[in-house]
Parts: sequence; structure tokens; C-alpha cells
Amino acid sequence: ATPTAIMVATGVGANNGVLIKGGDALERAQKVKYVVFDKTGTLTQGNAKVTTARVFTEMDRGEFLTLVASAEASSEHPVAKAILDYARHFHFFDDPSDTGDAQTHNRDSEWLLDVSEFSALPGRGVQCFIDGKQILVGNRKLLTENGVTIPTDAENFIVELEDSANTGILVAHNNALIGVMGVADPLKREAAVVVEGLGKMGVKPVMVTGDNWRTARSVAREVGIEDVRAEVMPAGKAEVIRSFQKDGSVVAMVGDGINDSPALAAADVGMAIGAGTDIAIEAADYVLMRNNLEDVITAIDLSRKTFIRIR
Ligand code: ADP
Ligand code: MG
Repeated sequence: ATPTAIMVATGVGANNGVLIKGGDALERAQKVKYVVFDKTGTLTQGNAKVTTARVFTEMDRGEFLTLVASAEASSEHPVAKAILDYARHFHFFDDPSDTGDAQTHNRDSEWLLDVSEFSALPGRGVQCFIDGKQILVGNRKLLTENGVTIPTDAENFIVELEDSANTGILVAHNNALIGVMGVADPLKREAAVVVEGLGKMGVKPVMVTGDNWRTARSVAREVGIEDVRAEVMPAGKAEVIRSFQKDGSVVAMVGDGINDSPALAAADVGMAIGAGTDIAIEAADYVLMRNNLEDVITAIDLSRKTFIRIR
């Protein structure tokens, strides 16, 4: 391709909200063999909601929700935001869409409990103390690592949630499991069509997530992806990319989060969702400004058309 062709393609991309950082990135996209998608916020809307909450002890439901929301109040994770919204609604507070304003914030402080020794454990959940008692909110790994046993009825409930594309969030108080919440994040509307389209182009779609295997498989099934890598710790996504590159394959990564930035940098073609975090956008070669996964196909198409060899 001539420099003019590259300039034109870059302009066409920009007009479609696909920002391409340079001619090399534009050229590499034509050879992409695997597209590795992050799950949360990339294939899904990134708008997690609590679908159900079950208390497994005598504890009052309101008291349970207050404990969990208090433990999550300092976390930035989408799961934490979903739990806070749910607890707010339970306590008859306003639409969580005005969380930013000072008034709602004041009201939060009226019902949230004081927390000490808070820590966020990446890929696991949160841990803190309330009234001198330890609270754990997170996945199975977090609870089992802390020696909390998961009773059979709770385990059955979690499996049921996971098989229907929910993430089961477990809550332990004083080292005993007290409740389970289901959190679900709907797929983006175009996700399944894009996955199918990539397949038709001879590109293999892959999903990578820190979420558990059962939920991951369930979401992957919905979107039509067969190759899934789950329970990947935040540092592990780049390793997944490198494993696909071993045989010389050209690999694209599509992601939105801080966790995705090492993988975006490791990929031959890193594509960041425009609504994602700045760190992801910086690490990527492409920025998809419309937040629409169809632009993954647009980007590969554009590269193929620009670099097609005229014989
Ligand atoms: P991803 O963004 O790919 O889903 P993360 O590494 O952020 O993965 O999280 C993996 C899992 O750890 C989540 O699915 C959830 O079960 C648990 N987790 C992480 N942070 C929290 C939190 N603040 N509260 C509850 N669970 C959490
Ligand atoms: Mg994400």
C-alpha cells in the first residue's frame, strides 16, 4: 500500500470512530488469526446488576444488605457498584443514577456502616472488618483461601446462578457463609453477530475473563464463542495472548479495563473500547470510539482492503 492509501484508510477509520495509531497497526490487522475478547465491559455491557440475593442464616435481609454494601463501598469494581445500587434500592433511596451528587452521598453515609482494614483483592473480592468481625465478599477462591466452608445448599444455589450466566458473589461474616448474591451483566446487542462474522472471515474468537469457569462458559455459549479462558488472574491475560502467538499467529486483543492493558500491549493488534479506562486506551493500537464491537470487523476489513495485493 502507498502512503496515500494508508492515509486514506486512517481517515476512513476515523470517520467511523476507529482511531488507528499508525500504519504498522493498520497493516498488522489484515493478518489477525485470533481475536481475544475480554468478557466484562467488552462482550458485556459493563452494566452489572444484582439479580438475586439469598441469606443463608437468621440474619435480617436489610442487615445483610447493609453489611455487604458497607464492605463494598470503597471498591471500584463493577460488582461493588451493582451491590451498592441494590442495597440503596432496598433501603428506598433514590435512583442510583445520581450517585455522583452530594445529597445521595450524604444519604449513603446515613446507613453505611464503618469499615476498618479494608482491602481489595484483585481477582477475588474485598475483605474488611465491621464491628470487629471480618467480612469477606467475593468468589469461591476468596472464601476457601480464608478457610470458610461453603454449605451444600449454598453451593447448589451458586451453580444454578453460574449456569444462567450470573456470577455468584459469596458473603462470609465471622468466617461463616451468610449469603450469596447473583450478579449479571447483559451481552452487548451486537456481540453474537460480531462473533459469527469473525468466524466467517476465518478469524477465531476467544474469550478471556477473571470470572469463574461456569459463568464464563455460560456467557461464551450465549455469544457463540467456543474457546474460553476463565479464572485468569489480572496479570494472566497477557500470558494468554502470548500462548496464542507461540506458533507465529497474529493475535488481536479487545478490552476495556486496567486489567486488560498488559494484554493489549502484548497483542499484535490491541483494540481498546473507547469508553474504557485511559490506561487501556494508551496501551492499544486501535481505539473503538463508538463502543460497538462491529468496529472490530470494520478494523480488520479496512486493513485487508488497504493491503490487498494487486496481482
Ligand atoms: P473480570 O473483570 O475479568 O470479570 P476480575 O479479575 O476483576 O475479573 O474479577 C474476578 C472475580 O473476582 C469476579 O468475577 C468476582 O467474582 C470477584 N471479585 C473481584 N472484585 C470483587 C468485588 N469488589 N466484590 C466482589 N467480588 C469481586
Ligand atoms: Mg473488562
